[in-house]
Amino acid sequence: MPFDVVVIGGGFGGLFVAGELRRRGLEAVVVDREDVPGGVAATRVVDGQVLEPAVGTFLLPHPHLSRALAGIDVVPAAPAAARRYVSTRDRLVGLEPGPKAIFAPVLPFGAKLRMLAEPFIRPRLDGDETLSEFLGRRLGRRAGGLVAAVAARGVFAGDPARLSASSSFPALVELEREAGSLLRGALRRLRGRPKGAPRPRSHLPRTTMADVARRLAAELGDGWRAGFPVVAVRRTDDGRWRVEGPETLTARHVVLAVTPDRAQALLGDADPVPFPAAPVAVVWLGGAVDRMPIPAGFGYLAGPDTDLVGLGCLFESSYAPSRVPSGRSLVKVIVGGAAHPDVMELGDEALVERIVAETSRVLGVDVEPDFSQVVRHLPGIPQYEVGHGARLGELERRWPPSSGVRFAGWGYRGVGIGHLATDAHHVAAGIAEVGP
Ligand SMILES: Cc1cc2nc3c(=O)[nH]c(=O)nc-3n(C[C@H](O)[C@H](O)[C@H](O)COP(=O)(O)OP(=O)(O)OC[C@H]3O[C@@H](n4cnc5c(N)ncnc54)[C@H](O)[C@@H]3O)c2cc1C
Repeated sequence: MPFDVVVIGGGFGGLFVAGELRRRGLEAVVVDREDVPGGVAATRVVDGQVLEPAVGTFLLPHPHLSRALAGIDVVPAAPAAARRYVSTRDRLVGLEPGPKAIFAPVLPFGAKLRMLAEPFIRPRLDGDETLSEFLGRRLGRRAGGLVAAVAARGVFAGDPARLSASSSFPALVELEREAGSLLRGALRRLRGRPKGAPRPRSHLPRTTMADVARRLAAELGDGWRAGFPVVAVRRTDDGRWRVEGPETLTARHVVLAVTPDRAQALLGDADPVPFPAAPVAVVWLGGAVDRMPIPAGFGYLAGPDTDLVGLGCLFESSYAPSRVPSGRSLVKVIVGGAAHPDVMELGDEALVERIVAETSRVLGVDVEPDFSQVVRHLPGIPQYEVGHGARLGELERRWPPSSGVRFAGWGYRGVGIGHLATDAHHVAAGIAEVGP
């Protein structure tokens, strides 16, 4: 029996698309090669510690994510989450929440003055600049370089001199397009917010991300098929799609919620459009609080003038105390990325040793963990480098939505799960418009 839609991939990208389709009355089946849903966000629970290898927190409320997670039990992160740090030349500097962060002693006075001149810098409204170019032009070389480095590392584990500003941080570029300035645009948005509207805050599931994925898959009933590795996606003579795996499914629409390289392989493209990714390892260190004293806060990001291979460190036990037994500390360090791909060659033991030394140096205390764990993501986090928009355009030229093929997930139009929820909304709306 043909389905309306087959979604390939049961990570959050695919699950959100299926949820949106069901809300529109379309029958979707999600298939995944693994036995459990959730993709890269496969939570491990070890010795009472909750280890989230990919997404661990998300901002709520959010226009689409709030709906995608309706009925899921989420809790705000502990108030400490508002406190964030940046590591500059291995000194840890606390940042005030929001715009007051500009007063942090991480920039010389001249750089701050230059940043304040941002509204008077003439906008440039075309072209595909790198994040470094865009922010350097708007905020000045020093401040722009700092913001670009922490944004690129914090979201993509990426290189700000390679990421496309408009593909990686479209909301930022939009501010310049709308108001001619980031500051003016941000103020305009703030003023336009409905009175009393709650500010988005970091949230986490009361249980685990894997449990959230299980619940979303369970809501699909028969529409969730685990252990279904797809080997090919082929067009039928009557314009439908055949999804070939342990059995063959036929549908009018197919959503490839897998990364672009995999999607193109399944579609049988012999000359695929290249989409880069940056490999990362996630290293957790845990120990008794007195042997691993960590500051209260969300964590730190490595600034541009550091040689740290740990691009960011999340203070799990501080902002998410439910993830650890009491009396223990836990940090999650994101390692490698575009800046340090070579570090991935280290074995787990050597990697942990390096991160223990580095974290001790940054925190200014001896970190003495009695627990460590490593998860590697390969090929890794999608990198929306300059030209990403054109590459997506080429993908759509080869498989236009009118052919019944759509792409979803973190390889395309945003890597955070808020972006995935927004994208799922648009993908499902496009399919609903055509109909079953
Ligand atoms: C270290 C790290 C930290 C992160 N932190 C955050 C964060 O704090 N906040 C945030 O919002 N996001 C974060 N993210 C991003 C977030 O985790 C991802 O956006 C999201 O999990 C990706 O979901 P996806 O469905 O697009 O891809 P995936 O999770 O990769 O899902 C793809 C699915 O497709 C399946 N599949 C592949 N090939 C086939 C095939 N041939 N047949 C059948 N099935 C197939 C796979 O098994 C997999 O389940 C982080 C990511 C990483 C790596």
